[in-house]
Amino acid sequence: MTPATMQAWVVDRPGPVDGRPQVRREKEIPEPAPGQVRVRVRACGVCRTDLHVAEGDLPVHRPQVTPGHEIVGTVERLGARVTRWRVGDRIGVPWLAHTCGVCRFCTTGRENLCLAPRFTGWDVDGGYADYAVVDEAYAYALPEGFGDAEVAPLLCAGIIGYRALQRANLPEGGRLGIYGFGGSAHITAQVALARGARVHVMTRAHEARALALELGATSAGDATSPPPEPLDSAILFAPVGTLVPPALAALDRGGTLAIAGIHLSDVPSLDYQRHLFEERVLQSVTANTRADGEAFLAEAARIPVRVASTPYPMEEAAEALRDLRHDRVNGAAVLMA
Ligand SMILES: [Zn+2]
Ligand SMILES: [Zn+2]
Repeated sequence: MTPATMQAWVVDRPGPVDGRPQVRREKEIPEPAPGQVRVRVRACGVCRTDLHVAEGDLPVHRPQVTPGHEIVGTVERLGARVTRWRVGDRIGVPWLAHTCGVCRFCTTGRENLCLAPRFTGWDVDGGYADYAVVDEAYAYALPEGFGDAEVAPLLCAGIIGYRALQRANLPEGGRLGIYGFGGSAHITAQVALARGARVHVMTRAHEARALALELGATSAGDATSPPPEPLDSAILFAPVGTLVPPALAALDRGGTLAIAGIHLSDVPSLDYQRHLFEERVLQSVTANTRADGEAFLAEAARIPVRVASTPYPMEEAAEALRDLRHDRVNGAAVLMA
């Protein structure tokens, strides 16, 4: 019997997205292993990390990988011994696909730093396809108030932004600077605003500035000009290392700059007095724990956050990535099955 096939995008040869490193081809429909479920993909968000995988900024972990780690799917086949999900459930498949459970980080509540993690759309195939499989313990139940296109970007953009916000140590009613205002930032800004923060957005994109003000930001200006007041905390969402010095310089004494992305272009040399002295903190953010994801989805549903998403048909994944590359997406791009 020939196995059933599906359509899936794969990163054929990593390189600039304008040169079409991705191709759509026929692939076998994956079978769920014990402890896994298979979902029919309903929607899959397009994250900047997919761009880094397609363009080769991140090393190849799995040749011909199918990208996509903001998957909204319907469970349609259970592997052996699955107890958490039933056929027909709408679940979310995020970036964190697996952790070892035994290393010194996994055993101390820091599975985001696991020594042997696997990530969806990098180590294992992701959601730019008709079907995907996931370990049942790493999928999320999704809040009902959100449609597929709205909930997809919460699964990475939302969760990572949430962790970055936690790592940025924003005090109660504090002043938060946000550098870059795309899919992740516009969600994180709403969480901070709901917690009573004053938010200043620095981005070069005009539509993004308009969106920031509409969501309640106090100011929205150019990425390199200083915010109107010193910041208690800042989050750098743009993968642009040259923004690190101005973002550090914008911090008040004792402030923290968190870098949300998995990839950052080179950071220029820092001036100790201007950028770090007076206890300014430079903090990276690495993936997330499942507890971060659960906490964020609950808070996002309570607020409730408004997700600006731009839908693309699944067949147009390459175009969505090019649009993201050239800052032509307002909010979050989402591939719809
Ligand atoms: Zn581990
Ligand atoms: Zn992502």
